[in-house]
Amino acid sequence: MKMLGSVPTELEWQAIEDNNAKVDKEFVYAVTSTKICCRPSCPSKNPNKENVRIYRNVELAMEAGFRPCKRCKPGGIRLPDEIWTDQMNQYMDQNYTEHITLQFLADTFHGSPYHLQRVYKKAKGYSPTEYLQKVRINKAVELLQNTGLSVEEVGHQVGLHNTSYFITLFKSLVGTTPKQYKKTLEGR
Ligand SMILES: [Zn+2]
Repeated sequence: MKMLGSVPTELEWQAIEDNNAKVDKEFVYAVTSTKICCRPSCPSKNPNKENVRIYRNVELAMEAGFRPCKRCKPGGIRLPDEIWTDQMNQYMDQNYTEHITLQFLADTFHGSPYHLQRVYKKAKGYSPTEYLQKVRINKAVELLQNTGLSVEEVGHQVGLHNTSYFITLFKSLVGTTPKQYKKTLEGR
């Protein structure tokens, strides 16, 4: 039961909202959508309350699969850059349909946009934007192969709502336009 954490009490939630450092030794809060755990005093953007679980200390939260926040370092634990950036990739793998900007990643993964971009690029060798584009275009290829969706619809489904931008990006990564790609498939 302990592994699941508990939903925050009113007092705990208040402390999280107020970034109250006085209770930092009493609990950490874990966020189920991002798998990050924080001190109550963490200055990061407050999560949705329904995604928050309370653990008595960072070790228990980590046993349950959460990673310590890069910014507030609960329990003084430093998360390696490699794991931090892997978390971002996992998030993008699952949420590529959403509007994900560098600022959004910074808010979600608790770092400044500039710092995040620099650390990410150093760890991965490419930028978060490049990764997200690759995820989206791979998904688009899959959709073109397996569905009868139009090019425009495929763009929407992978989070690229500007069709001409989608076509340009597709072409730069795949080598042909989505339309040509579809035609090639049909000709097989
Ligand atoms: Zn934090």
